[in-house]
Amino acid sequence: MELKEIINKVFAERFGAEGTIYASAGRINLIGEHTDYNGGFVFPGAIDKVIMAEIRPNDTDTVRVFSIDIDEYVEFGLNEADAPSQSWARYIFGVCREIIKRGGTVKGFDAVFAGNVPLGAGLSSSAALESCFAFALNDLFNGNTIDKFELARIGQSTEHNYCGVNCGIMDQFASVFGKKGHLMRLDCRSGEYEYFPFNPEGYTLVLVDSVVKHELADSPYNKRRASCERVAKRLGIETLRDAEMHMLEAIKSDITAEDYLRAKYVIEEKQRVLDVCDALNAGDYDTVGRCMYATHAGLSHDYEVSCEELDYLNEIARECGVTGSRIMGGGFGGCTINLVKNDLLDKFTATARDRFAARYGHEPKIYEVVISDGARRVE
Ligand code: ADP
Ligand code: MG
Repeated sequence: MELKEIINKVFAERFGAEGTIYASAGRINLIGEHTDYNGGFVFPGAIDKVIMAEIRPNDTDTVRVFSIDIDEYVEFGLNEADAPSQSWARYIFGVCREIIKRGGTVKGFDAVFAGNVPLGAGLSSSAALESCFAFALNDLFNGNTIDKFELARIGQSTEHNYCGVNCGIMDQFASVFGKKGHLMRLDCRSGEYEYFPFNPEGYTLVLVDSVVKHELADSPYNKRRASCERVAKRLGIETLRDAEMHMLEAIKSDITAEDYLRAKYVIEEKQRVLDVCDALNAGDYDTVGRCMYATHAGLSHDYEVSCEELDYLNEIARECGVTGSRIMGGGFGGCTINLVKNDLLDKFTATARDRFAARYGHEPKIYEVVISDGARRVE
């Protein structure tokens, strides 16, 4: 049975009626890593893996929601003191609260939801969940008066205020704005965005999840951030967005070798995103792939956020002749994103599985994704 039919059946059994069905998607980021906090560009797209919910206002002040995947039912009120303890329900409660805090309307409703975005694999199932409910509650209670960027911010604030995750805006942005066959270049400084066609005919996008996460002692993320801020300060600019390589070279002898490498990566990555945009406009997927490999090398050698397992997956991709491959996400584990010619697909996935398992004792998880629509009402 399809997701929609399952949800529909469970909703009818539980609530004896029919609601409206909404969905939103997980996301990938093709290129533009560790650029968001440097005021740079990211380049995400929504994928064909979704959270789907059937929802109906219930004329009370209580939200009643059943998670099919977790097999758990939760009820909560809409005041700040009513926060549920179940972590999955806090995403939904948070979205309700963030809409109310902004002056919007949320009343009681019944909901059943399920999804197929893998949890914790770097595809942002949490953003899919938030934006599905944010989109739905905007439609059901607010006549769609909340603009889409605000819906993304509602998801982001939910993570900050109700889930303890201090994330940027990319995941929720991609999930809300996603459009079939398009990636989006988001300018993290201005919030401006632009759609670029992404129809890699003859290629497949493949995520290879190493299923490892190296927790390092002294927060490497904060250290990277501090390096970038130091260099920007030395250059007299707000963020590295405004830096060019010749400016960095001019101060090379005044900064540490480590700070130099960190800033070099960020400056080069900004240019790579722009290069990929040009390449996509020209339908030149070879150049896209070369940029992805260059990003991996930069993240591994200059920004130093890779790990043995990710470097190994990248090496396997290269040896198999995969067009592009790089770490996706913050690093130190998680997955690689790969642009693979269809006639290489079986060979690459089998080789990655076998060789990775032989070395690390477990298989990676492999997901094929297609760039698809984000938040929407499902007819
Ligand atoms: P991700 O990288 O996938 O966003 P997170 O840890 O941020 O990983 O979010 C995963 C959490 O989102 C889950 O622990 C759960 O609370 C919620 N979630 C995601 N997908 C579902 C689902 N299908 N059903 C219920 N809860 C979900
Ligand atoms: Mg998440």
